Amino acid sequence: MHSGALVTARDLAEEAVRRYREDGFVHVRQVLGEPEIAEFHEDAMELLEREQRTGWGAGDRTVLEFVADSQLKSEAMRRLAVHPVITGIAERLAGVPLRLFKQELLLKEAGRSLPTDAHFDEFALPFTAAPSGLTAWVALVDVPMERGCMTFVPGSHLLPPSQRPQDAWEPFGRPEVRWLPRVAVPVRAGDCTFHHIRTVHSAGVNATGVPRVSASTVYMDDGAIYRKTGNRGLDELPEAGELTPGRRLDGARFPRVG
Ligand code: FE
Repeated sequence: MHSGALVTARDLAEEAVRRYREDGFVHVRQVLGEPEIAEFHEDAMELLEREQRTGWGAGDRTVLEFVADSQLKSEAMRRLAVHPVITGIAERLAGVPLRLFKQELLLKEAGRSLPTDAHFDEFALPFTAAPSGLTAWVALVDVPMERGCMTFVPGSHLLPPSQRPQDAWEPFGRPEVRWLPRVAVPVRAGDCTFHHIRTVHSAGVNATGVPRVSASTVYMDDGAIYRKTGNRGLDELPEAGELTPGRRLDGARFPRVG
C-alpha cells in the first residue's frame, strides 16, 4: 500500500477509501514515523503507569486494561488524537466533517490476556446522528497475530443495524454475520487501522512477552447528538460539563478535526 510514511492524508490512495467504504475497515501503513512512534510509546507507558486503569476481564486475566480519555491526560496523547495525518485520513474515509469524541490508551498484557470478543462499537457510544463515525486504532508496538491483532468482518457495517442490544456483544449470534469471512490484520508499530462504528471486530490474546500498546480514538460526525446508553461509565463524560440528551456534542471538548 505505502512504502514510506504518509506525508499528508491526500497521499492516501482513492482505492483505500473505496475499500474502506465497502469493507468497513482499512489498514494504513506507517502513519507515524519512527521519532513519533518512540515519543508516543514512551508517553503511553508513562500514562499507563501513572493513571488509573480500567480493567476488563475475568479472574486474574484481563482482556484489556485502558486509560480512558487519555487525550485529556497527556499533551502527547492529545496531539495523537488530533494528529493531522490520522484525522485527515479519518475525514477522507468518513467523507464528512468529524469531531474528536474520545481516545483510550489500550494495554493487552503480555502472556496472560484473554481474547477481545467480537463486537461493534456503536452501542457503547453515547451519541447518535453519526452515520459515519469511526475509530482509528494506532499501534505503538508491532502487533503480529500472536500479540493480539485486530480481526474485522468485512461488510458487517452495511448490514441493517440490529435493534437488539445483545447483538452488540454477540454479533455472531446473527446468522447473516456468523457466516461472513473474517480478516485478521497484523500491524507494525506506527500503522493505523480505521473501522466504522458498526464494523464487527475482535482481537486475539497476547501470547508474546511484550505488552500490546495501542491508542484507539473515536471520531464522530460533526452534528452528532448526545444520547444515554444507560451505562453510567459510558454516559458520564469527564470535563464535558452538564450534557443534555438531544443536544449536539460540540465545543472545545469535542473539537473539529481533520
Ligand atoms: Fe471495539
